[in-house]
Amino acid sequence: MRTLIRHGTVVTPAGAERADVLIEGAHVARVADPIDVEVDRTIDATGRYVLPGGIDVHTHFDMPYGDTVTADDFESGTVAAACGGTTCVIDFATQTRRRPLREALDAWLAKADGKAAIDYGFHVAVCDAGPDLETEMDALLAEGVTSFKVFTAYPGRLMLDDGAIFRALRRTRENGGTVMVHAENGGAIDVLSRAALAEGRTAPIEHARTRPPLAEGEATHRVVALAELAGAPVYVVHVSAAEAVEEIARARDRGVEAFGETCPHYLLLTDHLLDQPGLEGAKYVCSPPLRDRRSQERLWRALAAGELDVVATDHCSFRTDQKAAGKDDFTRIPGGLPGVETRMSLLFDAGVRHRRFGIERFVALTAERPAKLFGLWPRKGAIAPGADADVLVWDPDREITLSAATLHMRADYSPFEGRVVMGAPEIVLARGRPVYEGGRFVGRVGAGSFVRRAPRTGAVPT
Ligand SMILES: [Zn+2]
Repeated sequence: MRTLIRHGTVVTPAGAERADVLIEGAHVARVADPIDVEVDRTIDATGRYVLPGGIDVHTHFDMPYGDTVTADDFESGTVAAACGGTTCVIDFATQTRRRPLREALDAWLAKADGKAAIDYGFHVAVCDAGPDLETEMDALLAEGVTSFKVFTAYPGRLMLDDGAIFRALRRTRENGGTVMVHAENGGAIDVLSRAALAEGRTAPIEHARTRPPLAEGEATHRVVALAELAGAPVYVVHVSAAEAVEEIARARDRGVEAFGETCPHYLLLTDHLLDQPGLEGAKYVCSPPLRDRRSQERLWRALAAGELDVVATDHCSFRTDQKAAGKDDFTRIPGGLPGVETRMSLLFDAGVRHRRFGIERFVALTAERPAKLFGLWPRKGAIAPGADADVLVWDPDREITLSAATLHMRADYSPFEGRVVMGAPEIVLARGRPVYEGGRFVGRVGAGSFVRRAPRTGAVPT
């Protein structure tokens, strides 16, 4: 099967240029202007961008949470991703305490098997650092799992102490892995949230009040310092507070390989949304919480200036009836927002159309930097000869109204309900095959494969 995408504006690491893209089978064969060859299918991309497929390095599909499980599994989650212009996700396989890390990977491989519509990889979340942590990490790297998430929050459930985090960082210096951190001060937050409940403050807004920006700033400072001490890179997930951005920016200034990710909900929504009656506020509960305008503006500046590297989603969807578990106690609200399907359009609209940054930066934040940071480059993240043909024909003028009624995610609400955005995929190819076209999913469930990722050799590519 040979496909030729003609007359589009192709965005490559070198910049945006008018070019044709020839796809042979699952790979990009040539990028040139013009290409005149016999093909099976020609796509006219006049007036469109031709972009590398989005890579979302932060999703939670089929994730247990207390006695419930996220609304999206690997089928609905990856179908939704594809419809929004994302062609690869990296999900989290979470260790069960006192069990080997490898079991987590096996469990999540089984969840995804035969269900994913696009390619997928896994990070392993370490929540219990046993004596064999280092050798277990090495073994996972050999299986194509190159990143390990640790938590400074959720004491007694997920949190690691500083010594364990430092051990993981030291090992990645040697083995080419990457430590990712959920950075909030779990001890302080636990005290604050218990005090709130004791005083009868149980509403969703207390979730935000008991997880203040400084708790994120403190933990971010600590983990980038530990990374500096270990001589290893570190990647901070879902950065939400201006205080945390400052810590990352300062660390980078002194030469630390500190990388940060944020998510559309931190860029576009504020904490006042939690201050609504009943389950309305609960819909917006996630950790870290939504912040104020000051943090939002700092995040946008950081994306434009290169202080943050990635926009992912932390997609973790629950229906309203699941959120209801916390109607009388904000600490029992399942945390997380649906977002895997809306990331690309939201960021294009608010970032590129509103001139916060250009199309090249959009591609860097959604595909190129994620690929380089997580061992997918140069196989994914760029339109270049030899790369996987994960390609978007992107219509910058297509207007869509976001609504749970038309999105493919299984949450029964969207945090962006009713928002009108401009810029959306017209055609999405995953390894050369259409997965989204004509406004609907046209791929095949089960067509996605587990991608083995490559460890770093030396510094993270710029
Ligand atoms: Zn997450």
